[in-house]
Amino acid sequence: MDYQKLREKMVKKQLIPRGIKDERVLTAFLQVPRERFVPEEVREDAYGDFPLSIGEGQTISQPYIVALMTQCLKLKGEEKVLEIGTGSGYQTAILALLSKKVYSVERIKTFAQKAQKILRELKYSNIKIIVGNGTLGWEEFSPYDRIIVTAGAKDIPVPLIHQLKENGIMVIPVGDAYSQELKVIEKKKEEITTQTVERCIFVPLIGKHGWGEEID
Ligand code: SAH
Repeated sequence: MDYQKLREKMVKKQLIPRGIKDERVLTAFLQVPRERFVPEEVREDAYGDFPLSIGEGQTISQPYIVALMTQCLKLKGEEKVLEIGTGSGYQTAILALLSKKVYSVERIKTFAQKAQKILRELKYSNIKIIVGNGTLGWEEFSPYDRIIVTAGAKDIPVPLIHQLKENGIMVIPVGDAYSQELKVIEKKKEEITTQTVERCIFVPLIGKHGWGEEID
């Protein structure tokens, strides 16, 4: 398998025609080896135009959705980013290339450990991952310039709004358990503005300020 070729094809066929034009984002997609973040048995499909199962009922998002969410964050390289839902760690790697420091929260321990291991092997040194309920954010290192939630929320978790910096941007899918709208939230002078950019389907964000209470 020539994964570099598959990456180039993914950028050309899946991302650029759908409006991903931030050069830094496109460059990151050419660099991150997505095949390392998917289960071995589906490695050949790593660059397909669809999400893939990563076990435990969870998925690695479709490349286009990862790219769109990343582009909406308007990263320049100096930002402190909070990610909720590490999952495979693929989005985390993309964010690490485009910002200063990434804090990522994952509720399933085995995912957090697996992602941590791969990201270390790939020599990313600006990522910190913890196991926990991301609907509460990660207070210790707040406020954040950017927040990205990669699971579907029923509402925007209030702690995340508090942990977003003034002039900060948050990207989050909001809707019901089966389909959501991708929202871009900006915080200016304590006012929140919301814009909808796309319809999408994510696995549910679980926890106190999400679906169900089982981990609180
Ligand atoms: N960006 C990831 C998406 C994984 S799917 C990827 O592309 O691989 C969504 C992830 O969110 C799952 O790993 C799930 O366990 C996690 N998740 C769901 N609710 C969460 C919560 N409250 N806190 C932290 N992680 C959560």
